[in-house]
Amino acid sequence: MAKALARPRRAERSASRAGVWRGWPWLIGGLATALLIGLVATVGLIVTRPLLTATSPIAPSVLTSQARSAIDQAVAQAEADRIEAEALATALAINTGARQTLTSSRDQAQANLDVVADQVIDDSARIALSDQLLAAGDLLAQAVPADAASVSDQNSRLTQATADLGAANTALTDSHQAWLDRQPSYDGSNGHLNPGDLCPISYQPTLLLRCDAEAAWERLNSAYQAVWQENIPVDLSYRTYDEQVEMRQIWGSGAAIPGTSNHGWGTAVDLPDYRLVDDPDYWMADLGAEWNYGSPKYEWMKANAPAFDWVNPSWAVQGGIGPHEPWHFEYVG
Ligand SMILES: [Zn+2]
Repeated sequence: MAKALARPRRAERSASRAGVWRGWPWLIGGLATALLIGLVATVGLIVTRPLLTATSPIAPSVLTSQARSAIDQAVAQAEADRIEAEALATALAINTGARQTLTSSRDQAQANLDVVADQVIDDSARIALSDQLLAAGDLLAQAVPADAASVSDQNSRLTQATADLGAANTALTDSHQAWLDRQPSYDGSNGHLNPGDLCPISYQPTLLLRCDAEAAWERLNSAYQAVWQENIPVDLSYRTYDEQVEMRQIWGSGAAIPGTSNHGWGTAVDLPDYRLVDDPDYWMADLGAEWNYGSPKYEWMKANAPAFDWVNPSWAVQGGIGPHEPWHFEYVG
């Protein structure tokens, strides 16, 4: 019995061998299937390989030195760009502040110049400040550059212009103070009137007149404006004693003796279109045409100004005893 169990009978072995041979077609089919799968996989790999390599991270070990260099350069460039951007942002912030400072200084200096006008002991201070104002305006009109170095350069110039403008403005203030200190006491005599007691001509505010004369002049100017569509241009009005001395020195008998001119009372104006020349008959020589005797504007003034208490005095008119001054008008109110 033990033998029978250990060794199958011949018939059983035969039957078993026949079963194996009956499996051959399956084996062949399996091999063919495997080959087909392998083929498909291979083709699939060939087709997809470019895609895989394109999207997969590349191991550092396969980078060429050229690629490393390109990356290093890109990193360095990005760092340089970052530094430049930071520098530009900083410079632009400074630029904005420097422009605001210069603009403020310019406005302040312009206001000072307007107030001081020509009341300075040395006119070069006024001219110097005018030049600095022009330079500041030019600088402020310049566009802000696009790179940090150029912006920094412009910032330096803005800062320098602010300093120059401040110095020129201080010099003007000093010169104006010296001019004020030099003024004699205002005793109310001819050419020594207190400017604070006089009134500026509205459209030429550096020119002063006695206030009643100025008010009449404004009314006359309104009437003139209605006809000529312009203000009556005025060259001179109130004149201090010192100024009259200077004019006398320049023009001799062409200017009144200091202390006697109506200009010293703030009750006379000179229209601009006159020519004082070194000639005994200066009033006949080379007078400008616009306000000379016979010109439409002069004749209008001569005819209409008296209604407003302003006259071209009888000594000044054509045929008067002279000096013949068609430009000179006096308040007689
Ligand atoms: Zn005059």
